[in-house]
Amino acid sequence: MAAEKSEKSGFMAWYFESNLLIRILIGLILGAIVGLIAGPWILWVKPFGDIFIRLLRMIVVPVILFSLVVGAASLSPARLGRVGVKIMVYYIATTVVAVAIGLVFANILRPGDGLNLSAGKAAGRALTQPNVVDTLMAIIPVNPFESLAKGDVLPIIFFAIVFGISLSFLSMSKDERLSGGAAAVLRFFDGAVEATYKIVRGVMQYAPIGVFALIAVVFAQQGAKALGPLGLVTLTVYLGLLAHLLIVYGGLLSIFGLKFNRFLGGAKEAMLTAFVTRSSSATLPITMRNSEENLGVPRSIGSFTLPLGATINMDGTAIYQGICALFVAFAIGAPLDFASQMTIIITATLASIGAAGVPGAGAIMLLMVLNSVGLEVKEGTAVAMAYAMILGIDAILDMGRTCMNITGDLAGTSIVAKTEKSLDLKKWA
Ligand code: ASP
Repeated sequence: MAAEKSEKSGFMAWYFESNLLIRILIGLILGAIVGLIAGPWILWVKPFGDIFIRLLRMIVVPVILFSLVVGAASLSPARLGRVGVKIMVYYIATTVVAVAIGLVFANILRPGDGLNLSAGKAAGRALTQPNVVDTLMAIIPVNPFESLAKGDVLPIIFFAIVFGISLSFLSMSKDERLSGGAAAVLRFFDGAVEATYKIVRGVMQYAPIGVFALIAVVFAQQGAKALGPLGLVTLTVYLGLLAHLLIVYGGLLSIFGLKFNRFLGGAKEAMLTAFVTRSSSATLPITMRNSEENLGVPRSIGSFTLPLGATINMDGTAIYQGICALFVAFAIGAPLDFASQMTIIITATLASIGAAGVPGAGAIMLLMVLNSVGLEVKEGTAVAMAYAMILGIDAILDMGRTCMNITGDLAGTSIVAKTEKSLDLKKWA
């Protein structure tokens, strides 16, 4: 009995004391191998992966609300505005560059060229523009509790900022009843943030098992296809992502005097989580914790820029959309001219902003990009066939693009914090 107990605690001790990231990597590699070898038989492990995703999603809304209320209360409205403008400029500019990088790689490697699905002409259709006024108006929640319940990030951000700023004004009041009350509410939120981060740490202990299951399922279903016939698309997307990582993030960070290897070291847990969950929003709790604990970003900045980034800044998705649009055009034997590729820069930027941070969202928004250059996905057409091919390996492409999506958020957040002189540079030394 005693021996049994100590044996158990021995295994537990190994599990909990060995490096978390190494355990996750072991889960990832084993998952890929087992998935490829075992094939559909291994699909029974799916619930173990779903548990991991649900645990992460459980904590997303509380993390955003609690930390942003505290964050907004600790920044002056003017400073908050400045941070907002800087991060928006960064988010949009890097997305435009991302599409362009994707297009360059697709033009060089020409994935889909020679497939000749059929020279069938697809009827063009004007892009259905989402109504800008309505989209912007929806940022103001009519009922913040409904937004919280539905997990609508932008209205939650709006309400949390307004609420946090009100608390900070109240806490400066001369009336002690008001200042005391506000201080108590703020302390409450502060404690709540710490509690949510504590949960995140606990959830990550389960990550190696969840990761194994998630990856095994993806590789059992799509691995062979992505490595085989669609290998060139996969390669083009991953090369585009890598180039963006090295040139854009590496370049920008070093321009602002931040070491790229330190950045990667601090961001790797979030990058890996995004890779396996394929969801920027499910990864958000890890992204926020990494930015604070590893990259030295103050909560006041990260709590605002990271949820915003997870919702609208998707460089990886933008790269993928540029490449896949060209793939479809090549595959049907109708390569796109320069003007159409310029159109793609605009529509893929908008489509990536509009894509939700959930698995597969980018593939749905790709329809809008294809539409904008006259490649309408209609049943029975060659365009639909080419699109279906891409969809068949979407999970494999989604892993890489989601990883780059959140990497871009972290790089931008670090840079903005640096320009605000509030980055803890000890973490970068
Ligand atoms: N899965 C991506 C994300 O969550 C979105 C996409 O499908 O491109 O960031």
